[in-house]
Amino acid sequence: TETKYALVVLGSGESGTGAALLAKSKGIAVFVSDFGKVQERYAQQLHEAGIPFEEGQHSEGLILQAQEIIKSPGISPKVPIVQKAMAAGIPIIDELEFASRYTQARFIAITGTNGKTTTTLLTYHLLKQAGYKVGLAGNIGESLAKQVIQDQFTHYVLEVSSFQLDGMYRFKADVAVLLNITPDHMDRYENSMARYTDSKFRILQNMDTKGGFIYFQESPLVAERVEQIAIIPQQMPISLETQVENGAYLQNEALHLLVGEHSIEIPVAAISITGRHNAINAMAASLASLSMGLSESALRKGLATFVNAPHRLEPAGEWQGVQFINDSKATNVDSVYYALDAMTSPVVWIAGGIDKGNEYQQIELLVRQKVKALVCLGIDNNKLLRYFAGIVPEIAEADSTEKAVALAAKMSRAGDVVLLSPACASFDLFKNYEHRGELFKQAVAAFITQSGQQL
Ligand code: ADP
Repeated sequence: TETKYALVVLGSGESGTGAALLAKSKGIAVFVSDFGKVQERYAQQLHEAGIPFEEGQHSEGLILQAQEIIKSPGISPKVPIVQKAMAAGIPIIDELEFASRYTQARFIAITGTNGKTTTTLLTYHLLKQAGYKVGLAGNIGESLAKQVIQDQFTHYVLEVSSFQLDGMYRFKADVAVLLNITPDHMDRYENSMARYTDSKFRILQNMDTKGGFIYFQESPLVAERVEQIAIIPQQMPISLETQVENGAYLQNEALHLLVGEHSIEIPVAAISITGRHNAINAMAASLASLSMGLSESALRKGLATFVNAPHRLEPAGEWQGVQFINDSKATNVDSVYYALDAMTSPVVWIAGGIDKGNEYQQIELLVRQKVKALVCLGIDNNKLLRYFAGIVPEIAEADSTEKAVALAAKMSRAGDVVLLSPACASFDLFKNYEHRGELFKQAVAAFITQSGQQL
C-alpha cells in the first residue's frame, strides 16, 4: 500500500517548497508533486528537509488521497489533476492561506492589476525603515510559508495576485489595498471581467470593522463593485481628482493624507518615485502604513528614500541629451498609459512582444500627444503596426534590443526620451520581462560606449 500524505503540494516553486517546509516543521506528512522539473535549489531544500517529491508526473493515487492540497498559483485550475481533486472534494488552497494559519502577525494585503509590487515594496520600506519587525512576502521574494517557520515578524506586507486569492478562504487581512482592476489574465477567467473582479475583491474576505480597505476610486471596475456590495472594513478611498474625507487625494502637486488624527500634506517632489500612477501607489502605501501606526516623520523620510524594483520606469542611461527609460514590466496597456502619462518630453516608444488581446484605444490620445516615433520590438508586430500607422509619424521594427536601441537613437534628438514600455508579454524574444529589461539596459550601455568611441 502507498504511504499516506495528509497534505500534497502541487508545484515546487518558491511557494510550494515553502509550504512543504512549513508543513514538515509542523509535523504534517507532506508530499510535493511537480509535472515539470523541480529546480535545483528547491530539490535541495526538499531533500535536506526529508520531504518526498516527484517530478515530471502527478501520481494520482498519492495525490487524490490527500486531505488537503496546496496548489501553486501558476497552475491553472483546468489541468486534469486539479479537476480530479476538485471532483473528489479535496480542498485546494493557496500557500498564503496555509501559511496564515501559523502566524498571529498582522497582514497588509495588496492587490490590483498594476502597481502591486511597487506598492508592496514601498509599504515594506516605510515600515521597515521606521523599525517595524516586518516581513515581505506573497507574490514576491521569499515565500510567506518559509518566513512563518521562524515567525519573527509582527507585520507582513503581502503582494497578492488574483490567482492566489482564488485559493484563499479563511485568510484575513488587517489592511487590504486594491489598486485598480483592468483587463489582464483573461485566459484564466474565461474572458469574464466579472470573475476577475470577484477574485480581486476576495481580498476583503473575513475582514471586520477594525480593518481598513484602501482603494483607488477612479478605477471604474473597483468603484462599481464598491457601490454594489456591503463593505465591512473602514473605507479609505484614494483619488486623483476629488477631495476625500477619510483617505487620500492628489491636489496641487501634493499628496493629502487624511486618516485617523492625521492630516498630512506631502509634495510629490518630496517622493522618490514619479508619475501619477506612483502617486496612487504612494498614497496607498502611506495610508496602509499610517493605519499600522507609522509616524508622520517616519512616513516623510521613507517616501523620500524609497528605491523601486528595477524595470519600472527605471532610468537606463543618457546619450547626447536623450534619456533612455526601462519600463519592461509594463506588460499591459494600462501600465503603458501611466508610463506615457508620466513623460514630459517627446517619446520614442519601444513596444511589442506577445499580444494579450490588447485594446489600444485607451492610450491613443496620449500616443498622439507624446509619441514621435515607435519601434516595434517583437516577432509579430502586425497589431501594433496596424493600429498606430497614421497615428505615429515614424514607425520601425526590430527583433533585438540592440537594433531597437540603435533605431530609437537614430529617431531621437536631444531632449527626447526613449521609453521601453512594451504593453505586451516578452516570451517571443525573451525569457521574461526581467530578461527583456536587462538586455535593453545592456544594449543602451553598449550603444553609449560605442558612440563615445566613434567621436
Ligand atoms: P504589478 O506587481 O502589479 O505588476 P508593478 O509595481 O510591478 O505592478 O508595476 C507594473 C507596471 O504597471 C509598471 O510598468 C508600472 O509603470 C505600471 N504601474 C505601476 N503602478 C500602477 C498603477 N497604480 N496603475 C497603473 N499602472 C501602474
